[in-house]
Amino acid sequence: MADFEAKKIVKVFESLSGPIRILDEVSIGLNRGQNLAILGPSGSGKSTFLHIAGSLDSATSGTVCLNGEEYGSLQETQLARFRNQNIGFVFQEHHLLPQLSAIENVLIPTIASPIAGNGSIERAQALLEQVGLADRMDHRPAMLSGGERQRVAVARSLICDPVLVLADEPTGSLDQKNAELIGELLLSLQQANQTILICVSHNEKLASLFQRRIELENGRFVQEK
Ligand code: ADP
Ligand code: MG
Repeated sequence: MADFEAKKIVKVFESLSGPIRILDEVSIGLNRGQNLAILGPSGSGKSTFLHIAGSLDSATSGTVCLNGEEYGSLQETQLARFRNQNIGFVFQEHHLLPQLSAIENVLIPTIASPIAGNGSIERAQALLEQVGLADRMDHRPAMLSGGERQRVAVARSLICDPVLVLADEPTGSLDQKNAELIGELLLSLQQANQTILICVSHNEKLASLFQRRIELENGRFVQEK
């Protein structure tokens, strides 16, 4: 069994015209150190898949496992803890809190983490250095550029040392140059930490840097043509 396994994930949404099967038995297995880009047209279910992989949403049927633990069916309190300790998220928008500094934003996930402990400030500093923001730690989001804000979001996604990092169009709001920088950063940190990175992207150039690329089409994963 791979470190991360999604097995036969089905997602059906109810709509006025009846149920729609957005994901139709999609399966994927990835080991630590592997990265995957998910491509596909808007509305094909890419975010829906990432939300299920990240336990932000539940599947209609099918299972998600990380290190052998099937977490999709955990109770909400246990699930929140599992997510906090094992999964990092980067979204299209940075979702930083405007009243907090860069380092405070990076530290937010540690508030809910019983294992974060005393070393978290040093870890947040180290992460901000790794993303090239050593001299911006006390800046609020409004004092940072779009690319810098997203770099803070990348640092925040790694603060609890996750196994699985999920990025949903992380470069979608950035210009080409910053998009490339963020993409390269996500991949270099993924290799350094030997995490599993799954990234949804429309950016062909970025997707080409990933070890594996898969397209979501009519609710199914197909190998990129
Ligand atoms: P993508 O990320 O590939 O653009 P999404 O996963 O966001 O696509 O959405 C896939 C489809 O599922 C879309 O048609 C969307 O309208 C529908 N959808 C997403 N979330 C819901 C929901 N909570 N209820 C009903 N339909 C939804
Ligand atoms: Mg989406």
